[in-house]
Amino acid sequence: MDFTIDPAIEALRAKILDFLENKIYPHENRWFREEEEIFPACVEDGHEIRALQAEAKELGIWAGHLPAEAGGMGLTVTEYGLLNEIMGRSYFAPRVFGSNAPDSGNAEILWHYGTDAQKERFFWPLQRAEVRSFFAMTEPDVSGSDPTGLQTRAIQQGDEWLINGRKWYSTNANGAAFCILMALTDPDAGRHRRFSQIIIPAATPGLKLIRPIPVMGHTAGTGHWEVAFENVRVPVSNTLGQRGDGFAIAQTRLGPGRIHHCMRWLGQAQRGFDLMCSYSKQRHLFGSALADKQTVQNWIAESAAEIQAARLMTLHAAWKIDNLGAKEARVDISLIKFFVAKVMMDVLDRAIQVHGGLGMSDDTPLAFMWRQGRASRIYDGPDEVHKMVVARQVLKQYA
Ligand SMILES: Cc1cc2nc3c(=O)[nH]c(=O)nc-3n(C[C@H](O)[C@H](O)[C@H](O)COP(=O)(O)OP(=O)(O)OC[C@H]3O[C@@H](n4cnc5c(N)ncnc54)[C@H](O)[C@@H]3O)c2cc1C
Repeated sequence: MDFTIDPAIEALRAKILDFLENKIYPHENRWFREEEEIFPACVEDGHEIRALQAEAKELGIWAGHLPAEAGGMGLTVTEYGLLNEIMGRSYFAPRVFGSNAPDSGNAEILWHYGTDAQKERFFWPLQRAEVRSFFAMTEPDVSGSDPTGLQTRAIQQGDEWLINGRKWYSTNANGAAFCILMALTDPDAGRHRRFSQIIIPAATPGLKLIRPIPVMGHTAGTGHWEVAFENVRVPVSNTLGQRGDGFAIAQTRLGPGRIHHCMRWLGQAQRGFDLMCSYSKQRHLFGSALADKQTVQNWIAESAAEIQAARLMTLHAAWKIDNLGAKEARVDISLIKFFVAKVMMDVLDRAIQVHGGLGMSDDTPLAFMWRQGRASRIYDGPDEVHKMVVARQVLKQYA
């Protein structure tokens, strides 16, 4: 087995890391504070981020998740994973490099399932980061882990959909140009053919942003929104893929999407690890540096082992998608989804502990990363759902 990284990918990783260290890290604390202060008015990227996006496009590090013909970098899932581990070190980097969720996932499904007209109107402006979008699936009144019970209803009337329902946790809804909605269209069809995905321009009458949901006391950036759909009408031609394809499209989105998340979380874990190691050498107490204490050394060794295990597992799942397809990699994807999220949270927790009071402050990125990171164990399927998928598969071998 050859673990060598292709020199071209290694060179891109170095280029991206240099970009992060010089153009993103020095500003991210201020950007975050600014976004929080002007929320909910911050509906578009500030001019500094816009300028960096232009630079990233110029350097050829733009929309790494998309194929070359879609204006992306034309990478395999494994190659993109290796880059995403570096980009993931900063919350702002995916925005700067044109691969921010949920736009990235929306762009992928629009490219995969969209008609030429849908691509022209929705995909290309998104790919160029001229507009933003949101993905409206989860609802407040029913379980998101078991989405077969979602209630938002689309009824066909002539050549229009009439849509009613309520969604929440619609990330980045504020200022978005359109959303992709998961709606119940065929209640009598088989369990996994009842839902369709429908593209809805944000300005459509009846689409109402109800409130931003404060997450752990914070509402920053473009936020997570509760959204009502009240007698919303859009043409049936806004259906993405075929009627009833809702779950199939969600699977297309979530497979590689979870790998992207995991690599980004590894980037967060690695950054927390780097901060923990460097601070432990600087800080002296009880006659020696923190780095000389056995407990801190244990944390460093455990974190190093966990990060490496998580990295290899994630790259293996990416390799499986590239070589055998997303369906074959389904269990591996569930395995890494809960495992890597836990590794990130454990490493960040230790890094915060090593920093003492400083770790709880916003003077380092650790508290922010931990706060953001906690949701990783819930979105895109909570830990328990992924553990259930893995355990069922394992138990089949013991029938
Ligand atoms: C920050 C953030 C951003 C999000 N962004 C979006 C977005 O952009 N668009 C969107 O549509 N949604 C989004 N979500 C919603 C997210 O996908 C859902 O919260 C998630 O799917 C879980 O659904 P739920 O909240 O309804 O929890 P429920 O399904 O009600 O589950 C509650 C809890 O039950 C437990 N559980 C579930 N299944 C089992 C089981 N089999 N056995 C034992 N316990 C179990 C889990 O611990 C779970 O956390 C976001 C959520 C967060 C926190």
